[in-house]
Amino acid sequence: MSTNEELFARAQRVIPGGVNSPVRAFRAVGGVPRFVQRAQGAYFWDAEDKRYIDYIGSWGPMILGHGHPAVLSAVQEAAVQGFSFGAPTEREIELAEAILAHLPSMDMVRLVSSGTEAAMSAIRLARGATGRKKIIKFEGCYHGHADALLVKAGSGLATFGNPTSAGVPPEVVQDTLVLEYNDLAGLEQAFAEHGAALACLMIEPIAGNMNFVRASVPFIRRCRELCTQHGALFVFDEVMTGFRVALGGAQSVYAREIPGFVPDITVLGKVIGGGMPLAAFGGRRAVMEQLAPLGPVYQAGTLSGNPVATACGLATLHEIGKPGFYEALARRTQALVAGLRQAAADEGVPFSGDSEGGMFGFFLLDALPQNYRTVMTTDGARFNQLFHGLLERGVYIAPALYEAGFVSAAHSDEDIAQTVDAARAVFRLLARG
Ligand code: PMP
Repeated sequence: MSTNEELFARAQRVIPGGVNSPVRAFRAVGGVPRFVQRAQGAYFWDAEDKRYIDYIGSWGPMILGHGHPAVLSAVQEAAVQGFSFGAPTEREIELAEAILAHLPSMDMVRLVSSGTEAAMSAIRLARGATGRKKIIKFEGCYHGHADALLVKAGSGLATFGNPTSAGVPPEVVQDTLVLEYNDLAGLEQAFAEHGAALACLMIEPIAGNMNFVRASVPFIRRCRELCTQHGALFVFDEVMTGFRVALGGAQSVYAREIPGFVPDITVLGKVIGGGMPLAAFGGRRAVMEQLAPLGPVYQAGTLSGNPVATACGLATLHEIGKPGFYEALARRTQALVAGLRQAAADEGVPFSGDSEGGMFGFFLLDALPQNYRTVMTTDGARFNQLFHGLLERGVYIAPALYEAGFVSAAHSDEDIAQTVDAARAVFRLLARG
């Protein structure tokens, strides 16, 4: 049996950084990444057979926990029928129908294989449908790694993008305007200056890539009004929040406060594939009919609508559609955040936390941040101490302070209680400094 350390050394010889997605490398928190051997329910086991309570759930998809029997048998049956055909299947229609049934903003949906692909295609569609070039995104929101979206810009200034990654030529991001999240004045100014040139505004409505930050209701309302007024499309990136914060996604959460609220285009991923490579984007019929083969906006994929992935997604949607599913998930997630808050208060550690459905975030700060700049005022060294303290005690949270966490239906009250006990022990160490 190899140790995590041996596997990491071996991985680093053949895979850049030893990982196939950067955050897995523990660069932010230091130490040796855990190589996962297997997973079941709310747990996974590393190469050394140590068990962890899993709060990343593959970064969101595993809302039922690992190895759910109904999902597993759907995948096994589908695999026997064939891995991939490159021709349409009935199951793709079923999955499209199942998605649309819960998202009234969408008349049609196109299936793809990753959230990156879905967000990239949504931008192309918005540009194609409006005949405009410019897009708005917000600092701290991640929409995958398509070139035009790899921009963060700085400190709340509305600037046309400087690429965040090498290899992205400045001219590729010159039409990407980056604004501060929840900043109404910046939003007004951007539309006043660029409204007629804007193809779309893309947002993570409950941002999970700067830990957990909600867009305020007034902010979402104003985004909607300005997009409508200026003829720009409002794109909700619900790759993380879709079927995670509620059956109807974050848009249903905002529709509770803003009657009739709908975005124009929705980007989905993660939960709709149940852990298989599957994502989607959709919207109103008139917009979606701009896509090839009906319209002039090209988009395609060899593995799009893959039969094994769609079986996994469908079985997952079937389970989470059962009455009471989200109530139970939300209750458990709230219990986790409340338990952590209490433990931190008892030990005198600054703490704030929030959750919606099965998605949560917490900060070693007195109050919940409203934007990326404030999230990044967290003391990184203290977070790292918390991360490693929890890891040692068998609790796996995201290895970076700017990532959200996820609870699954497989997490028991006992798992939550164990997690809070572990956190209490680490908070005590933190309080001692
Ligand atoms: N959008 C959001 C909101 C995401 O959280 C992510 C991934 N974490 C993506 C897009 C990109 O998805 P993928 O990693 O499947 O390409």
